[in-house]
Amino acid sequence: MVAKPRIGILALQGAVRPHVEKLERLGVEPVEVLTPYSLRSVEGLIVPGGESTAFLHLIEMNNLWDALLEFSGEKPLWGICAGAILMAAEVLHPAQRSLNVFDVTVERNAYGRQLQSFVSALEPSPAWEEEEVEGVFIRAPRIKSLGARVVPLLSYKNETVMAREGKHLISTFHPELTESSAIHRYFLGLCGTA
Ligand code: GLN
Repeated sequence: MVAKPRIGILALQGAVRPHVEKLERLGVEPVEVLTPYSLRSVEGLIVPGGESTAFLHLIEMNNLWDALLEFSGEKPLWGICAGAILMAAEVLHPAQRSLNVFDVTVERNAYGRQLQSFVSALEPSPAWEEEEVEGVFIRAPRIKSLGARVVPLLSYKNETVMAREGKHLISTFHPELTESSAIHRYFLGLCGTA
């Protein structure tokens, strides 16, 4: 029997379980990553939504900072909401440390109080050739600027909410909370496992 490809989910905190289910449905083996060692066996890593400040603390405590940087040089990362904040080149509101592996500036909690959580259809850019998807936004950040090599994939009210840079992906909304598996499938494509 051929071994299933393995995709990691950084499982320090946040929305882990819905990703496990999506990945299982797509026929890959989800691996809950808690240590540098478990990064060695996966073809890509989902950095899920949660609270980016808590992630920063837990990444330090678990000795994962350098391991994540090293991994990002070799294999794809997909940062979702707090995960996108962790991957960004620059974080505002307030400024905080980040891995600086994806050339965007993001502003945390940028949709204001009454809009802290909402669901909306998303507009595809020409580079998004998959099915239409909707986005669940939960105290989401806003992408304030994109570097020259960043390719916008989906937008909401004319602002990019999902983008690709090389092999890496970020989304400011939560694709694990909607029925469609299109974005998970797209990420598996970046990992070479779809
Ligand atoms: N508001 C959170 C932060 O700033 C992100 C929320 C999320 O991941 N859904 O880290």
